[in-house]
Amino acid sequence: MPTIVTHAAPVLVLGSALGFRRIPPRLFWVAVFCALLPDLDVIGFRLGVNYADLFGYRGFSHSLLFAAICGALAWSAAPFLRCRRWLAFALIFAAVASHITLDAATSGGLGVAAFWPFSGERYFFPWRPIRVSPLSLRAFLSERGLAVLRSELLWVWLPCLVLAIAARFCLPRRR
Ligand SMILES: [Zn+2]
Repeated sequence: MPTIVTHAAPVLVLGSALGFRRIPPRLFWVAVFCALLPDLDVIGFRLGVNYADLFGYRGFSHSLLFAAICGALAWSAAPFLRCRRWLAFALIFAAVASHITLDAATSGGLGVAAFWPFSGERYFFPWRPIRVSPLSLRAFLSERGLAVLRSELLWVWLPCLVLAIAARFCLPRRR
């Protein structure tokens, strides 16, 4: 996986580009949380679940079905999120899908079970420029961790920053 902070980057970009007038704050912060949510499956390691199992790391929680379920929950919670139902579904689905997309572009581990239940196969993109982050803090606080941060800055944060700036200039201001 990219680092947990980097998983929030696409939602932060979307939020800064569209602003709180288009994306209500509650919906925005729930979307940030949902961009990180799939990696709660690391709990499975502690519970003895195998990496390659359906509920193992990058399994069910890294599927588009899981993204759709999260989107459906947001759709039903739209009054609480103070937004239209379609917006709640779309943003939360996109937040979880962005997590799956970034993981599929990393250089290590198993791929993502993006198309479960139609396929149990684990997928990666053919081109994977993002260095996979070590799961242990000790390994992260090393030369390997620096390499991960460098690759995330180059392949995630820089493109997100360019997109955010472009969107600021291109999108009409909403009053
Ligand atoms: Zn992940």
